[in-house]
Amino acid sequence: MPPLLEIQNLVVDYVLEDRRVRAVDNVSLSIEAGEVLGLCGESGCGKSTAAHAILRILRPPAEITSGSILFKGLDLVSLDQEQLRQFRWRDVSLVFQSAMNALNPVIDIAEQFIDMIQAHERVSARAARARAADLLKKVGIDASRLNSFPHELSGGMRQRVVIAMAMALSPELIIMDEPTTALDVVVQRQILQEIADLQNEQKFAVLYITHDLSMLIEFAHRIGVMYAGELVEVAKSGALFREPRHPYTVGLMSSFPPLSGPRKIMMGIPGSPPNLSNPPPGCRF
Ligand code: ADP
Ligand code: MG
Repeated sequence: MPPLLEIQNLVVDYVLEDRRVRAVDNVSLSIEAGEVLGLCGESGCGKSTAAHAILRILRPPAEITSGSILFKGLDLVSLDQEQLRQFRWRDVSLVFQSAMNALNPVIDIAEQFIDMIQAHERVSARAARARAADLLKKVGIDASRLNSFPHELSGGMRQRVVIAMAMALSPELIIMDEPTTALDVVVQRQILQEIADLQNEQKFAVLYITHDLSMLIEFAHRIGVMYAGELVEVAKSGALFREPRHPYTVGLMSSFPPLSGPRKIMMGIPGSPPNLSNPPPGCRF
């Protein structure tokens, strides 16, 4: 069976007046049905740009320069606007970094669910609302919150609403771009656990993007590490944890403390990533 998502030699540039910033440089990656793939790397390494390319929500000056993105054999790079409209949410959905940007501030939660569901399926508003209530329950939010506006919810609740919305049409892949980064660590942990439970129960695949490698070790089946636009390593989580191969991964691994074992001095990674509009030849790290 072909993978659920297969990215081949993807190149995404931000085309500026005087230069091209190559944010995603020749990335190839696949995700199997039901798999949790973690994608990590520091801020600015191209994670969000890659995610937005998959959903084809890149805006100028960003453009897909070359490469292919296949979803169950369907070439996403060549879909037209109407095909994309149908594809998003239904086949692949996205949980943004900031729920506040994903939710419409002037309509209540129920209406946001109803609008989205009815844009894809012929169902009554009442049926869509009932589904929304069920979905909210799954993420631990009382159905009475359907009548709330986004600003009336806490940051954690808003992020849960967006996760519920991402599951509404039962897509086979949910892309989560730093879904918990804006939240405090306790809520982060709770939401990650909820996502893991839901994934286990419903078996959708997840592309989970974070700058925090330690978060992925337990949760992801496989982990990809990006550095300066390139995917430098992909491995099963256990293998990456036991024997990271790329020196950048080794650096990331030694930047968070183990829970057991002798105390060690934590190492930082000196220097900063190269300029993406004029990267050096050879290994960027
Ligand atoms: P990440 O999600 O890993 O933090 P991004 O995908 O947001 O990284 O950005 C990757 C790189 O793309 C950045 O380092 C920056 O050089 C470039 N970039 C992002 N957005 C723009 C933009 N609007 N214009 C020009 N360059 C951009
Ligand atoms: Mg990002």
